[in-house]
Amino acid sequence: MLNSISILGSTGSIGRQTLEVAEHLRMQIIALSANNNVDLLEEQVRKFKPNVVAVYDEDAARELQIRIKDTDAKVLSGMDGQVEVAGCSGADVVVTAVAGQMGLEPTLAALRTGKRVAIANKEPLVCAGDVVMQTAREYGAEIIPVDSEHSAVFQCLQGERDRTGKNPNIKKLILTASGGPFRGMNREELENITPEQALMHPNWNMGKKITIDSATLMNKGLELIEAMHLFDIHPDKIEVLIHPESIIHSMVEFTDGSTIAQLSSPDMRQPIQYALTYPNRKPSLTKPLDLIKLKKLTFEPPDTTTFPCLSLAYEAAKKGTKACAAMNEANELAVDLFLNKKIKFNEIPDIISNAINKSTI
Ligand code: MG
Repeated sequence: MLNSISILGSTGSIGRQTLEVAEHLRMQIIALSANNNVDLLEEQVRKFKPNVVAVYDEDAARELQIRIKDTDAKVLSGMDGQVEVAGCSGADVVVTAVAGQMGLEPTLAALRTGKRVAIANKEPLVCAGDVVMQTAREYGAEIIPVDSEHSAVFQCLQGERDRTGKNPNIKKLILTASGGPFRGMNREELENITPEQALMHPNWNMGKKITIDSATLMNKGLELIEAMHLFDIHPDKIEVLIHPESIIHSMVEFTDGSTIAQLSSPDMRQPIQYALTYPNRKPSLTKPLDLIKLKKLTFEPPDTTTFPCLSLAYEAAKKGTKACAAMNEANELAVDLFLNKKIKFNEIPDIISNAINKSTI
C-alpha cells in the first residue's frame, strides 16, 4: 500500500479529485503544485498540510508565501518549483495532473525518482512519448495511467501480458469516446459555435482545455497517441468508437475473438484511485453501476468529416514524434485562440493540419 502522495496540478479538476481520493485512502500529502490559483492552494495547504507547495507564477507564489506564513509549508516558484515537487523524496507516488506540455519537465523529474507516477497529463506522452517511456525504463519507474480510457485498457490487460509487457494476442485496443457536445451535428452547423457552447460537456466535468478537445475529438486523438506509447502498440491497432453513455471506458480485443471491457460510472475518482491502489482495489467514492436503470449502451463510428482532428491525430501518430509534437503545440494554440474568440471552431483542425504538414518538411 502506498501511503504518501505528491500532486502536480492540485487545483485543477483531476488534482482536486485526487485530493478527495487521497483523503479517502488516508494518504499523507507530501507536496502540491499549481499554476496560479492562490485561493484554492491556500485552502489545500491548510487542510492537507503538505511540506512543500509550488506555484508556477512568480507573483502568485509571493502572495501565497505571505498568506501561509503561519504554516510550515515551504513555498517554491517557477518551473524549478514544479520540478522539485515532482522529484520530492518522501512521496510513494506522484500524480501529474497539469494541463498542457508544460508538464513534460516535471513528469520526467517524477520518473527519475524511480517510483510510481500516475499520469493524468497527456501532452508529455503525446509530444515526447519516446523520452517519457525511455526515462521510466531507465529509472525503473512505474507509469500507471489515470486517463479513464487508458486506465480501462490497463485494467483489461491485467494478467494478459508476458514479462516483457507484450502480448502477441492483442488484436486491437478500442478507445471509447462520448462524442462530445456536438455529436450528430455537421460541419455547417458547427460554423458559429461559441466557446460557451463548446464548454458544456454532456458526461464529464473537466478543465477548459480538455473540454474543447472533447468537442473537436482531438482529445481522442491525443489519447490515441498516449495509448500507442503506453501500451507499445501501432496506431492501426487502435480503434476509436463513439459510445455516448461513457460507461464502457475502453476495451481490448484479443485474437481468440474475446473482448474485455472495463465499465464504471463516469467518475474520474475511479481511475485515480486505481492508479493509487494498483495492483489492489479498495472501496471507493464512485457509485456502482446500475445496469438495469441504464438499460442500453449504444455505439457508433466517429464522424471524421465533421471532426477531422481525429484523422489528423492518426496521421501524426504514423508520421512520428515530430509530427505529434507539432500537432499538440498547434492544438494548444488553436484552443487558446478559440477560447479567446480569435478563431472559429472549424478553424481549429485547419491550424493543426498546417502544423503537421510543416513539421515533416
Ligand atoms: Mg479520457
